[in-house]
Formats: sequence, C-alpha cells, structure tokens
Amino acid sequence: MKRTFLNTPTTARHPLLLSLLVTLWLVALSNLPLWQQLGQLPEVSGLRGLLFGVGLAFGIAGLTHALLSLLNWQWLLKPVLTLFLLSAASGAYFMWSYGIVIDASMIVNVMQTDPREASDLLNWRMLVILGLLGVLPVWWLWRQPVRELSWARRLGTNALSFVASIAVMVISLMLIYQDFASVMRNHTQLRYLINPLNSFYAIGRVVAQPLERDQSKVEPIGQDAQLALPAGASPATLIVVVGETARAGNFGINGYERNTTPRLAREDIVSLRNVWSCGTSTATSLPCMFSHLGKDGYEKRSSNHESLVDVLQHAGLAVLWIDNQSGCKGVCARVPNVSTTVLNVPAYCEGGECHDAVMLHDLDKRIAELPAERRAKGVVVFMHQMGSHGPAYHKRVPAAFKRFQPECASNALQECERQQVVNAYDNTIAYTDHFLAETIDWLKKRPGPTAMVYLADHGESLGENNLYLHGLPYAIAPDVQKRVPWITWASPLFQQQRGLRPSCLKDKQDTALSHDHYFHSVMGMAGVRAAEYRSELDIYSSCTTK
Ligand SMILES: [Zn+2]
Repeated sequence: MKRTFLNTPTTARHPLLLSLLVTLWLVALSNLPLWQQLGQLPEVSGLRGLLFGVGLAFGIAGLTHALLSLLNWQWLLKPVLTLFLLSAASGAYFMWSYGIVIDASMIVNVMQTDPREASDLLNWRMLVILGLLGVLPVWWLWRQPVRELSWARRLGTNALSFVASIAVMVISLMLIYQDFASVMRNHTQLRYLINPLNSFYAIGRVVAQPLERDQSKVEPIGQDAQLALPAGASPATLIVVVGETARAGNFGINGYERNTTPRLAREDIVSLRNVWSCGTSTATSLPCMFSHLGKDGYEKRSSNHESLVDVLQHAGLAVLWIDNQSGCKGVCARVPNVSTTVLNVPAYCEGGECHDAVMLHDLDKRIAELPAERRAKGVVVFMHQMGSHGPAYHKRVPAAFKRFQPECASNALQECERQQVVNAYDNTIAYTDHFLAETIDWLKKRPGPTAMVYLADHGESLGENNLYLHGLPYAIAPDVQKRVPWITWASPLFQQQRGLRPSCLKDKQDTALSHDHYFHSVMGMAGVRAAEYRSELDIYSSCTTK
C-alpha cells in the first residue's frame, strides 16, 4: 500500500476542484460581513429570509466561479485564486472593522494613502483576520499538486464550467427574484459588500475613468482674474483653513453638548452649521470644493480644470499652500506650496507627523519670501489640516490638549468602547479649536485687514450603526459624514473696508449651503473677480454693502 503523508497528497487535484473549493470559501467565509448585514435587515427574516440568503449565496458563487472559469489555466490558476482570496480577506477586514464598503472612491483613497497613514491602519486584529481568511487558504492552495490537462481538455472543462456557473447564478437569482430586486433597490450598499468582486469592479471603474477624461491636460480657468476691491479698501491677508474629517455636530459653537470649542466661542466668528460636503473622502471632496463647477458639474466634467488656488494666483495675489496632510490632491500644484513633513519642526513634529499648529510656525517669514509685487495686492495662505484624520485620532493631538478622557488609543476603533472613540475624536476638535484661535490671534497682530475662512472636506462616522471613519458612497453615507463646519472670522478693519456684516452672515447659520459655494465665496473674500465667479454662490456677497 502506498503511504500518503499529511498535507502532501500524492494524487494531484483537478483544477476545477480547486476553483470550486476556493469559491466556497470566498462565498461562505470572506463574505461574512455581507451575510451579517443581510441578517440584520428586517425584511430578510424567517424561512423566506433564509431561502433568500441561500439563493443569493448561490448567485454570488455562480458569478464568482464563472469568472474563475475564464482564468482557469495551468500556470495562471494559483496566482488568480491567491488574488481572489487575499482581496476578499482584506475587503472583509475593512468592512468588519470600519463598516466601510468598497467602491471606486475607496480604491482612489487607498492609492493616494501615504505610508504614514497606512501604518495608522495596521494592527493585530488586521493580521489575524487576513491570516485566517486569506493567508491560511493560500498556504493550503500552494501545497496542492494540480493535475495537468491537455489544452483541449482544459478549454472544454473551462467552457462547460463557465456555462454551468452562469446557469447556477441565473437560476438562483430567478428563484429569489422578487426579494432580490426589492432588497437590492432598498439597500444599494449590499452590492459593495460582495467580496472580492466589489474590489475588482471598483478597480475597473478607476482604471476606466482616465479613458473617459484626458488626465494629461489641465484646462486653465480664471485667466481674466483680477483684484476688484471696493474704493478705499487696502490689500488683505486671508487665511483659508482646509479642515479635515470635521463633523459640524461635534463643534460646541454649533450646539454640541460638549464644549469642544471654548476659544472660538470667545471670538467674533460666524459658524454655519448646515453645510454639505461634495464627497465623503478627501480625494473626492478636495478637488471638487476647489473647482468652479460645483458637485454636479465636477462629477460630470469631461476634462480637468485649474482650481480656485490658480485663479487667485492669476489675479496676481501672493498665494501660498501649506500642507500638513498627505498632499493637496493636485489643487495646489501650480502655486508655491510647502509640506510640513519636509519642514519637520521638532517642537511640533514627531515620527514624520506634525500637529497642525506647525503651520503657523515662521509664517511671517514664509510670507515674506513670496514676491513683493504680489504681496502688495494681498496675501492668501491655504492651510491644509491634519485635523481629525482617523483612525488614529489620538495621534493628532498633543498630550496637553487631551481634555476628554479616557480616549481610545488604538487604531482598531471597534476594540475601544464607543465613548472612548468619541472622546479621542472630540479631542481632535478641541485641538482644531485651539489651532483656529491661534490663527485668529496671528491675524490680529498682522497689519492691514485680515480674515479667516475655515471649511472641512467631509465628516466622520464614530460608531453610529457600527460605522466608523468615512468614504461611504455619497448616496448611502450617513449625514455625519457629509455635514461640515464652515467658520468665518474677519478683523474689524476688514469688515469696515469691505462692508461685511457678520450679523447678516449669522442669519444664514441654518441655511442649507454646500461645497458648491466655496469657490465663489473664497474669491469674494479675496476680492477677486473672474468670468467663473458667480455672486449668487458667494455666501458673503449678499452680506457685503460695498
Ligand atoms: Zn479628508
């Protein structure tokens, strides 16, 4: 009798058996987040709900296996199965841990994440889940000898298995069609939960996008831009703070039950609290808010355009972009810009990351280095905050500013109690309060009229309905990911010279506004006009008497 050793089968496996086993693993285990969410839907319950789940599982299995049948070739099989297993495992980890789903904008976020941010995401839980769902089956897979088939046999087998898989999918979905149609219509997010097809589909969308749009060209805008200040007004210094991951509802000045913003509360500011973001992630919101097109126009654009920052530069102002984030996503590419990571000021920076107050360090000097003829027309400094970027909220705030305790000090947020996550997040808002107040103090000392505009790129989920972080597709994202704070401060001289009335602006605090207003409003505050400027979208224009 022939002896077989454990784990080293002497009989080679049929390639079809391997693809079937992997499909089974993917559908049953790597899609646990999908099955969990499905189980929580009220309309999926009882025997009918169970049958629906089984039908859907067979439908997904059929589709997955049909795809694998096309790729089931001798040397290709194991790498393809490995890719499927690992993609599905990482998808499952992120869904489980942060309640995110995988779509094209999530893939763009991943591609634009810098190594520092990525290390924020690493933790033991991740290694365990990736190990169990991904590495374990991959390890088993590569130990299996695969039976060699002739090309003709292989082609025949693949064709048959493709047809059979499609048949399984179609029949399963037909049997549950009524429930399938209504559940998918009412819970569109479910399709982003199907591992690993969601990742492949999203990557396909991202790859196809540049084909729809010429990425090599940036269309100029605002070439006629010029300074148009009222008579007697002198050139101003404007600081435009681009906030990060700030939810309007967590600002004390917006009515939050916690006093997260004691310093801003003492300043003569106007805080608008019904402002809606363009996207739910930095990569989608930032270029959109700096675009003249607005959300709809930006999403449908056929080419890329210059940004608000370029328009101010064309108008001859001294423009500077200071970045304390993972970059400005292209909006500051053509103006003087500096990254604080490069500056690495020891008092503010540690381990390649700096606290936001670093942006005020040596600011006078940095402005003085801009061309004198531009400074004579006015100065606009953009400050891109690290703000409340998660999941490592605790890293965003110096120890002395952590007022809300105990705070979650892990980046695996779901391992902390929810209140600790909220505490850690609120500490970042309190630190933003400090940073904005310091910015206002800096402006008060500067000669001439000065002003500050602060607006965040998107909000954040803090464990409501088990959702964390941000980046859900806009249509299904909860309001907390989309409602952002917009704060304005102007010196008395600025108010007087421009005829800006804060009381008028305060009347708009609950008016529905959006990122669509940003481009035009910042142009208004900078005193710049160009063909693209629309006064009806400038929130300051109707509150300005000059
Ligand atoms: Zn962001």
